[in-house]
Amino acid sequence: MTSRRARGVLAGDQSSKGSAAGVSSHIVIIGAGQAGLSAAEALRKRGHDGPVTLIGEEDAPPYQRPPLSKGYLSGELPADRLWLKPPAFYDMAKITLRTGVRVTALDRAAKRVITADGEAIGYDRLILATGGAARRPAIPGADLPGVHVLRTLAEADALSAALQGARRLAIIGAGYIGLEVAASARKRGLEVSVLEAADRPMSRTASPLLGGWFGALHRGYGVDLQVSAGVAAITGAQRADGVRLSDGERIEADVVLIAAGLNPGVSLAEAAGLDCADGVLVDAHARTSDRDIFAIGDMARFDSELYGRSLRLESVQNAIEQAKAAAAAICGAPAPYDPVPWFWSDQYAIKLQIAGLIEGADQMVRRGDPEEGAFALFHLKDGVLIACEAVNSAPEFMTAQRMIAARARPDPDRLRDVTVAMREFLS
Ligand SMILES: Cc1cc2nc3c(=O)[nH]c(=O)nc-3n(C[C@H](O)[C@H](O)[C@H](O)COP(=O)(O)OP(=O)(O)OC[C@H]3O[C@@H](n4cnc5c(N)ncnc54)[C@H](O)[C@@H]3O)c2cc1C
Repeated sequence: MTSRRARGVLAGDQSSKGSAAGVSSHIVIIGAGQAGLSAAEALRKRGHDGPVTLIGEEDAPPYQRPPLSKGYLSGELPADRLWLKPPAFYDMAKITLRTGVRVTALDRAAKRVITADGEAIGYDRLILATGGAARRPAIPGADLPGVHVLRTLAEADALSAALQGARRLAIIGAGYIGLEVAASARKRGLEVSVLEAADRPMSRTASPLLGGWFGALHRGYGVDLQVSAGVAAITGAQRADGVRLSDGERIEADVVLIAAGLNPGVSLAEAAGLDCADGVLVDAHARTSDRDIFAIGDMARFDSELYGRSLRLESVQNAIEQAKAAAAAICGAPAPYDPVPWFWSDQYAIKLQIAGLIEGADQMVRRGDPEEGAFALFHLKDGVLIACEAVNSAPEFMTAQRMIAARARPDPDRLRDVTVAMREFLS
């Protein structure tokens, strides 16, 4: 558990009931991404009838990020399929959407947010949903033209334009985004190198077996995937023309993508004195150390009872569900948030779904055959199911979600047959 726990107020806090600053109060949301939009929508569904202002610095209306490395980048999904809501939704739901507006400061004493243009917008309750920015590690050459990162639609468009007419792409980092871009770029006919400092792909979140399997998958599709490959520099005089590894090897590339994770967007919160530690610290109702300010999505860190430590999750599911928890608390119907995290990734014809977190697992049970491209890995800790990695195995994934939430102790032998395990779990 984090030591600097947000001093938020939990269930039973009368001030969070929908009166006073309640149903007719002005809720301002900073960040018009998945979490911010979900919060606005959840407030309306819960009956909040006061003004809701959703402020986003990007020019685009709220959109889905997952396709940016998948169907949108490969060219299979057009831009108009990215929007989370049709334009008419915002008027119908009476949500004031302000795009292209950057908030530069919070004035907690006066309960106002200040925009880059100097405008002050007052709030009764504030929700921070600022996501984060793609990390650019201090690699020599990282600022050269031809070096890209991928978080926003504008960055996806810039990367896509650069790939047009390019022959070779080098990707630094074999996490989900790096690997998804590799698959999309192969579909577009590029030669792709993926350079990973760890000894396997997806080392931060996936089991060795799964990471190794995905490594083999990419090599099978012709990707030059190198592990234990530290990057010394991105090379090039006027623009990037390759990557030099720490052992001296040089990889030629017309385009370089750095896929090295996310810096959570905490600068506004930090400057305003809210408790932060790799994310804004929130309680089970998404409330920060200021009782009138909530934080949700990729930038929020909460204590997980289920996993016994603080978590900051970067997933669509978390953005949506934590947003609902914040809206519920604001509307006076608090419901604590302690999710079984889940996540998906699409690479080539493979759908990966992960439920739970594998960290700390001491036993793994495999169901299905990796050779056949459909299998599930169940991870247990002290006999309790804590995670499931499912490759083209949706039923196993869905079963595991329920079992993890219930802290089930399945018989590992029976787990190999998910139908039996589920029947036993339900009985
Ligand atoms: C390429 C890619 C692929 C992904 N694939 C998957 C996947 O397959 N499955 C999955 O579950 N998750 C995936 N994710 C993660 C998922 O998209 C995020 O977890 C989710 O978008 C988080 O939502 P959010 O609202 O917290 O942050 P964001 O969606 O980042 O929204 C935050 C918004 O706040 C805005 N903002 C920040 N600061 C300010 C400010 N000062 N003023 C005004 N506006 C501000 C930003 O511009 C941004 O639009 C992917 C992410 C990326 C980038």
